[in-house]
Amino acid sequence: MFLFVIVLHESGAGLSFSHQLSCHHFLAGFWYPYKNIFALVDELGIQPFTNWTQSAQYSPNGLEVESPIFQDVPRLPSPLGTFIYTKFLRLPIWDRLSSLPLMYAVVDFDNSDKSWRKYDTRTARELFKEFGCSERVYKEAFNPMLLVGLFAPGEQCSAAATLGMLYYFILAHQPDFDVVWCRGTVGERIFKPWIARLEQQGCEFLSRKRVTDVVLDKVSGLVTGILCGNELFSADAVVFCVGISAMQRIVASSPVLQERDEFLNTCNLGAVDVLAVRLWLDRKVSIPRPSNACFGFDSSTGWTFFDLNALHDEYQDEQVSCQSAAAS
Ligand SMILES: Cc1cc2nc3c(=O)[nH]c(=O)nc-3n(C[C@H](O)[C@H](O)[C@H](O)COP(=O)(O)OP(=O)(O)OC[C@H]3O[C@@H](n4cnc5c(N)ncnc54)[C@H](O)[C@@H]3O)c2cc1C
Repeated sequence: MFLFVIVLHESGAGLSFSHQLSCHHFLAGFWYPYKNIFALVDELGIQPFTNWTQSAQYSPNGLEVESPIFQDVPRLPSPLGTFIYTKFLRLPIWDRLSSLPLMYAVVDFDNSDKSWRKYDTRTARELFKEFGCSERVYKEAFNPMLLVGLFAPGEQCSAAATLGMLYYFILAHQPDFDVVWCRGTVGERIFKPWIARLEQQGCEFLSRKRVTDVVLDKVSGLVTGILCGNELFSADAVVFCVGISAMQRIVASSPVLQERDEFLNTCNLGAVDVLAVRLWLDRKVSIPRPSNACFGFDSSTGWTFFDLNALHDEYQDEQVSCQSAAAS
């Protein structure tokens, strides 16, 4: 038997564990480069997504930035299209141009171990300063992106993680910033049919089983099973696919993993708390764009809000407004 530990959404022949659905309850955007997910939904024969949507950014001064649907406008060599078509309502052209030298670092960062070592030792804030980005372009364009993209301000983000994000979501190809949204929760719309398909193929999913430890064969050095409290499941292979906080909790309860530096060292990693809420307003409020990011209301916090009447099928005909907001 081949055992996959954790997450409902990692597929494999065999078992998969999860104690809850976690992030799949809140709103999720799927960007243009998520080719594997678009291929998966095609394979499942489902259409869970909205059309491509435009987004906006707000500050205490009002609307700051509007993005077009980049694949609908004439293609320019990257990153020119992003620079030219993104509509900044207040940020002067001189400030925007000051970010051009940063392209050297974006191109130089190739996601290799070597470039992680080179860029991971400095913060994003230091990187933008070093490459001559103006204070205003940092405060009104890049820092807001980090606050809602990596959930932390530039002083707390690694320059390597920042370059990786800029390249993947924004700069590699003009349409990469285009996004579609799930027309309901990801759990209902994507995982449910996916799990049903995998079950038809013989997979078994065990939910609400919290992994607490692994079983190690001292002679071979191989993991031969996992423990969920007192329950033992034998396994040929174990794959952890949990976030940092969950991994730290597993290590805390696992004498076997505590023996290994690579697992113990996860305790040195930080995580950011994120708050997600749904707001029901007692009347329909017209919101120009369905997905919106906000910055400048607090120095270390960014937030997003989404018009669920526009994005989720179930709220389309509501006479009240339903909004989803997340802040970090
Ligand atoms: C507010 C917010 C908004 C986001 N918006 C987007 C977005 O729009 N688009 C996007 O692409 N990404 C978005 N993300 C990021 C995205 O949610 C994550 O990148 C993604 O969920 C990570 O998936 P994962 O499978 O690695 O981990 P997770 O989704 O964290 O899955 C880990 C699973 O393991 C389970 N688990 C934990 N501990 C145990 C244990 N001991 N035993 C068994 N199971 C366990 C958990 O219950 C969970 O089901 C957002 C994140 C947040 C916080």
